[in-house]
Amino acid sequence: MEIKLIKTQKALSPTQITLADYCINPYRGCEFGCLYCYSMENKNIKNIDSASEIGVKINIEEVLRRQLRTINPKRVLLGSTTECFQYIDVKYRLSEKILKTLNEFKTPYTILTKSHLIKDYLPLISENTKNKIYFTLNSAPISLLERKAPAQEQRLETIAQIIRRNINLRIHVGPFIPYVSGLKDLLEILPSGVKEVDMELYHHKMGNYEEILKIIAKNLGKEIESKISSVYATEGAYLEFTRQLKNDLIVLKNNYRNISFFLIVPDFNMFYNKKMDYESKVR
Ligand code: SF4
Repeated sequence: MEIKLIKTQKALSPTQITLADYCINPYRGCEFGCLYCYSMENKNIKNIDSASEIGVKINIEEVLRRQLRTINPKRVLLGSTTECFQYIDVKYRLSEKILKTLNEFKTPYTILTKSHLIKDYLPLISENTKNKIYFTLNSAPISLLERKAPAQEQRLETIAQIIRRNINLRIHVGPFIPYVSGLKDLLEILPSGVKEVDMELYHHKMGNYEEILKIIAKNLGKEIESKISSVYATEGAYLEFTRQLKNDLIVLKNNYRNISFFLIVPDFNMFYNKKMDYESKVR
């Protein structure tokens, strides 16, 4: 893996993701190398293999500090196009520096992660009760599509620690791949104390769809591959699958009355738009 040290001009960038008004990504690219990664569409990393070349924004703490003197974000999103707690962060510790700086300025943040390496920073994150972690967990076969991401057991253990620390938490089942992801099984293994779970439906323009189908056909069978293809064949089929999914979720939520469920469905023609709604509960 090639490491490039980068001097960045900006730490905080405005974001269209409705979870925050600014985002921070300390690295360019991501070692975890998920085949479904939507950040492949990001113009800054589109033309590189983001898993084999990582840019390290070595001066990000200093730049963030400077920006926070003039910008007062309502909330900052960490890790919209990279994993802040990937393995390289153990060496450079940029995420720790960012958390400390945001805490110092009393700026609340939301972290998107699937990494057990966040565990070392839970005391820092718990300093502000408005902070929140969206922790990604998925059904075991999805690991076929994640080249170096932490194993499901490591993630479950981390989730338990986040709950013990009383940090705001949402379990993010994303992407939910039809006929591969299963919410029922995941709910059975979740540590107790989880209060929010969302499911974000996979969109066929996210990551490398052809490669994903190939891997699923090879490992899970052609029948599953063809069922998935049929969901994405037409907008009508996609919407019908969405309706079924919502109905399944309504039935399921009756057994988990302490959990709020959210279903996030990208537009069929455009996988991300400003209307992506993370906050409407399934009722
Ligand atoms: S961990 Fe997140 S940012 Fe990294 S490759 Fe996977 S989806 Fe992309």
